[in-house]
Amino acid sequence: MNIPVYPDVQLLIAGEWSQAVDGRTIDVLNPATGEPIGKVAHAGIADLDRALAAAQQGFEKWRRVPAAERATVMRRAAGLVRERAEDIARLMTMEQGKPLAESKIEVSSAADIIEWFADEGMRVYGRVVPARNPNAQQLVIKDPVGPVAAFTPWNFPVNQIVRKLSAALASGCSFLVKAPEETPASPAGLLQAFVDAGVPAGTVGLVYGNPAEISEYLIKHPVIRKVTFTGSTPVGKQLAALAGAHMKRSTMELGGHAPVIVAADADIALAAKVIGSAKFRNAGQVCISPTRFLVHNSIRDEFAQAFVALAQGQKVGDGLAQGTTLGPLANARRVAAMERIVANARESGAKVATGGERIGTHGNFFAPTVLTDVPLEASVFNDEPFGPIAAIRGFDTLDEAIGEANRLPYGLASYAFTRSLANVHQLTQRIQAGMLFINQAALVPAEMPFGGVKDSGYGSEGGPEALEAYLQSKSVTITMI
Ligand code: NAD
Repeated sequence: MNIPVYPDVQLLIAGEWSQAVDGRTIDVLNPATGEPIGKVAHAGIADLDRALAAAQQGFEKWRRVPAAERATVMRRAAGLVRERAEDIARLMTMEQGKPLAESKIEVSSAADIIEWFADEGMRVYGRVVPARNPNAQQLVIKDPVGPVAAFTPWNFPVNQIVRKLSAALASGCSFLVKAPEETPASPAGLLQAFVDAGVPAGTVGLVYGNPAEISEYLIKHPVIRKVTFTGSTPVGKQLAALAGAHMKRSTMELGGHAPVIVAADADIALAAKVIGSAKFRNAGQVCISPTRFLVHNSIRDEFAQAFVALAQGQKVGDGLAQGTTLGPLANARRVAAMERIVANARESGAKVATGGERIGTHGNFFAPTVLTDVPLEASVFNDEPFGPIAAIRGFDTLDEAIGEANRLPYGLASYAFTRSLANVHQLTQRIQAGMLFINQAALVPAEMPFGGVKDSGYGSEGGPEALEAYLQSKSVTITMI
C-alpha cells in the first residue's frame, strides 16, 4: 500500500504558507487508529488580521480580472486538482477515515464543480431595463459582494469548501476559509491548486484554529461582506444571528434528517440496495444521508430484511485498506453519539436488527446498524444521527408518511420510492425539503441547487442560485445630456 507522509499543515495567507505567529498547533488524529499523524497551525488574532488584509487586497485585484480570465485560472486549478487527486484523496482518508474510493470521488468531483462554476461565471449578466424617459438608460449591474468568510466541516473536507470557493471566485469575490481542524491536509491540497494556478495573492486564504473565536472575529470584521457556513443547525443559528447583527449576507447549509418514504408499490430490492448504500456512504456522516425510513406496513419486513443483509455485507475497516466500504467515524464524539442513540432507541422499545455497538477498542469503528419498530419519540427519529444508523418504522397511508416526513424542523434532503405517478405528484407538491429524490439516491451535480429549508438553512450551493449568493445588484440610471 502506498501511504503518503501526512504533512504538518500551515496557514495560507497572502499566497504564502506560514505557521501561526505564536507558533501554536493542534494535533491531527487518524480516526482508524486514534493516533496522531500530524499537526495543523492554530491561527491567533494577529494571523487573522493578516489574512483579512490579504483578502481585501486579493478582492481588489480579482474583481478586476475579466470573467473569461478568471475562468481560465479556475480551469487550471481544476486540472491540478485532477492531477493530484490520488494524493489529496489519500490524505483525506488518513485524516477523515472514509474509504479511499469515496475520497477519490470527492476530489475528482471537486474538479468538475470548479469547472462548472468557471464557465457559469462567464454567464453572470446584468440587464438593460427600458427607461420611462427616452433620454435615459437603465442598467442593472452585478457586482461581487466582497471578501467572503467561509466555515466548513470535517465530513467532506474538500467538497464543502469547493462549492463555496468556486461560486465565490467565479463571481469575483476573494475567499477566506476556516477549514476543519480535524481534517486539514486535503483542504490545503485544494487551496494549493488555486495558488499554483495563479490566483492573485490574497484571493484565497486558509486558516485553522478555535472555530468560535475565528468565526466571531471574521464575521464582525468590516472587511468581510459575506458569510457562508456548513455545519450543525445550532451553530448555524448562532452564526446567522451574528451575521445579521453586522448586516452581512449569509448562506447557511445546516443539518438534515432525511425521510425515505417507501410506498407499497415500490421496487423493494432497488430501494434497499440504492438507499442502503447511500445510508452507509461516509459512515452516514452526510447532511443529506437517508435517516428516517418510513416503509409501508405491507412491505416493511421484506424491506427491513433486505436492508439488514446490505448492512451485514458492509466491509468495515481502515479506509486505506483494499475493499473497505465503511471506514471509522471521523472522531470519537460520533462513536459516543451512536452509543447514546442506540441505548435510547432500545429504551424506547425499538429492536436492533443488526449492529448497535462499536467495533474494537481502538479507532472509531461502529457497526452498520439497522433499528426497526422505532417509536416516534426515540431520539433517532428526532435528532440528526450523523452516523451509520438506519431507523425503520411503518406507515399505512401516504398522508401519514408525508405528515411524518414534514414533522421535524429540518428540510434538507428527502427520498421516496414508488411506481405511482399519483404518489410522485403528491410528494412533489407536499414534501417540505430543499431536495427530493425519487427512485434514486442523492445526486446533486454542480448545476442543480443544493440547500435546505426550515432549520436546514437558507441559500443554495449549486446552480445559478449559488452565484447569486455572491453578487449584489447595482441599479444605474443615466440621463443623456
Ligand atoms: P459542532 O456542531 O461543534 O461542529 C460542526 C462544525 O461546525 C464543525 O466543523 C465545527 O468546526 C464548526 N463549528 C462549531 N462551532 C463553530 C463556531 N462557533 N464557529 C464556526 N464554526 C463552528 O459539532 P461536531 O461534533 O463537529 O458535529 C456534530 C454535528 O454537526 C453532527 O451531528 C451534525 O449534525 C453536524 N454536522 C453537519 C455537517 C453538515 O454537512 N451539515 C457537517 C459536520 C457536522
